[in-house]
Amino acid sequence: MGVTEIRERQFNEIDKKALEQIDLLIKNSGMPIMRDLKTNNLLWIDVRELTQRFMIPIGRIYKFFDQLSKGKIIGTKCPKCGSIYFPPQDDCTKCKVSGLDVIELSGEGELLTYTIITVKPVSFMHYQDYIVGIARLKEGINILAWVNEKPEDVKVGMKVKVNVVKREPEGYFTYELRKIQ
Ligand SMILES: [Zn+2]
Repeated sequence: MGVTEIRERQFNEIDKKALEQIDLLIKNSGMPIMRDLKTNNLLWIDVRELTQRFMIPIGRIYKFFDQLSKGKIIGTKCPKCGSIYFPPQDDCTKCKVSGLDVIELSGEGELLTYTIITVKPVSFMHYQDYIVGIARLKEGINILAWVNEKPEDVKVGMKVKVNVVKREPEGYFTYELRKIQ
């Protein structure tokens, strides 16, 4: 099942109930206002559908995606000032140089911080709860990625490694942080 189908199925179930409730509210009171069951706050409920499409030019950093699909993590390094960029970019923001060098990253580092996402943005609702972390790699740069571990196993300061994985249900390559045993 593709991601669009999964999302649609989920939304249809949630939406159907929610829309019926909102219809009833409007019919009874003329206003889409109800109490939040958790906080007891009054909520104004408006339903609009939103589709986001991303088209990002990646020609100058295509090598990153090419290597990612082969299980490798690369960054770029400025030949002038030595700054390292990840995700890679082809321009050094410090000295305005273009055409940076490609370097392979160790992918090893230490977890600086993390957060567990239980209330997900709409476009991420088809995922289970997930953990987003920032790790400092040996190369001295910080990387933001999902942490693929159970929440109880995640600790600030633990050693982590960047892993290349296929994100499901989308089926494309991406990277995540795993604990080094
Ligand atoms: Zn530079």
